[in-house]
Amino acid sequence: MIGLISATAAGTAARDRLAAAWPDRTRVYDGLVGEAVRAAFAECEQLVCFLATGATVRLLAPLLGDKAADPGVVCVDEGGRFAVSLVGGHGGGANELAREVGALLGAEPVVTTATDAVGLPGLDTLGFPYEGSVAVVSRALLDGEPVALEAEVPWPLPPLPTAPQGSYTIRLTDRAVAAGEREVLLRPPSLVVGVGASKGAPAEEVLGLVEEALREAGLSPKAVAELATVDAKSEEPGIVAAAERLGVPLVTYPAEELAAVAVPNPSDAPLAAVGTPSVAEAAALVRGGELLVPKRKSAARPAMATCAVVRRPGRGRLAVVGLGPGARDLLTPRATAELRRASVLVGLDQYVDQIRDLLRPGTRVLESGLGAEEERARTAVAEARKGHAVALIGSGDAGVYAMASPALAEASDDIDVVGVPGVTAALAAGAILGAPLGHDHVSISLSDLHTPWEVIERRVRAAAEADIVVTFYNPRSRGRDWQLPKALAILAGHREPATPVGVVRNASRPDESSRLTTLAALDPATVDMMTVVTVGNTATRDIAGRMVTPRGYRWQASQEGVQ
Ligand code: SAH
Repeated sequence: MIGLISATAAGTAARDRLAAAWPDRTRVYDGLVGEAVRAAFAECEQLVCFLATGATVRLLAPLLGDKAADPGVVCVDEGGRFAVSLVGGHGGGANELAREVGALLGAEPVVTTATDAVGLPGLDTLGFPYEGSVAVVSRALLDGEPVALEAEVPWPLPPLPTAPQGSYTIRLTDRAVAAGEREVLLRPPSLVVGVGASKGAPAEEVLGLVEEALREAGLSPKAVAELATVDAKSEEPGIVAAAERLGVPLVTYPAEELAAVAVPNPSDAPLAAVGTPSVAEAAALVRGGELLVPKRKSAARPAMATCAVVRRPGRGRLAVVGLGPGARDLLTPRATAELRRASVLVGLDQYVDQIRDLLRPGTRVLESGLGAEEERARTAVAEARKGHAVALIGSGDAGVYAMASPALAEASDDIDVVGVPGVTAALAAGAILGAPLGHDHVSISLSDLHTPWEVIERRVRAAAEADIVVTFYNPRSRGRDWQLPKALAILAGHREPATPVGVVRNASRPDESSRLTTLAALDPATVDMMTVVTVGNTATRDIAGRMVTPRGYRWQASQEGVQ
């Protein structure tokens, strides 16, 4: 809950806008400002104070306790120009809140936490449980001191400006080691604990067994991702309570699925009770991984609980990201987020240049020149297989005549893949030309490097016969100059010489140009590889210099009736 406090009329107006926008997330504290701040501080996770920072600091000072537990506080000034993250930038989420409030009220977010200010992710905000000297190691990163990353378990991490060796370390480990003075431990969710229990097994017995198994194997409870068991035990109170106390989800599997898992220690008892010769080991191993602790029983007599511990390999993550046609404001926020999340970026050098300023310090950039497409795809997949978070970029949409298909042809199911759509050239050009794609349309690439010309020609012919609007990608290069005239001639066999044709070069880039011409008048020599050519169908018109394909042909009939 976000507590809202204001004092003046302007502050109250801004406060009400926030309250109206986020009715379920906010609560208004009226009355005397001092009391309102005290009450909100006690009751809410976050505060937005429409007050001067000075006044807010004085009111908060006696209330402040622990930075891990205090609410995050954002101040908005009287003019609504700034949303200042005042207290609890990371732990209290005030930095993020300042950005959100800023976006909503049109105020500039002000974030002074050092790591955020220079684009470094805070070590305490990476989404992993952490231990050790966050302040000391963050300082070292900021000061450019060598900080080594020691990833004992491969796991997709955001970029960190680390060095091969250093006197400071960030250690990604699921082992129960203590952090050194110049060290931060990050806990990956790599451990799965399989548990079995007889009916009525006490929670203490289950929990005690799990904790003992982890302790004796030298593993950290903070790295436990989930407890796993058989479906029949999904409501066994001792198991449910143990998962709750460990703060992890309980995942269950059907007995038949567990029965099919090869385990070192099967037995008859669970087979008779729930239909699988192994519960703990099988539930821990069912999604793969390395068995670190084979089945063990609790010390109680009779023993009512079993457990086994497995380390799952980290799954790498491949984001296939479309950057849009060029302009920064046509790059989607989701694409930006993926670029900042990846520790490895793979792409064509000219596209990397387009977004280099968005990358976080420490991002490993693997760029290559034109061609080398297969190699880029292979590299991206290989890096993801090593457990990294990888972004593979392409202009426009990365799935349209671009990197997504060669990459996914290489990828197996041992990595996660996410696609981020981008504004493809045909759409960017369409918006510039008017509304050429108002009815059925196709894109056809005229590049015959990978596709035989007969195939391309057959498709152009089909589009011509079907009276579909066509956008040509890769229309013409120095070495390929006869394909475009040939394709246009095929279309001209089915469309009037006056059919509108839109030519857009470098859509949304600084040297953008466009022109509306006709099938008869288009000079192919003015077209190059930075261009798309959109040919209208028999209904497409030039209306006030804009290319318009009607949505339905009834409209066309009525237009013609008027003429
Ligand atoms: N994935 C890209 C297309 C790659 S094929 C996309 O979705 O847009 C390369 C061809 O796309 C170029 O030859 C050109 O025809 C077209 N193209 C890409 N960006 C363009 C832009 N900004 N303006 C005009 N055409 C563009």
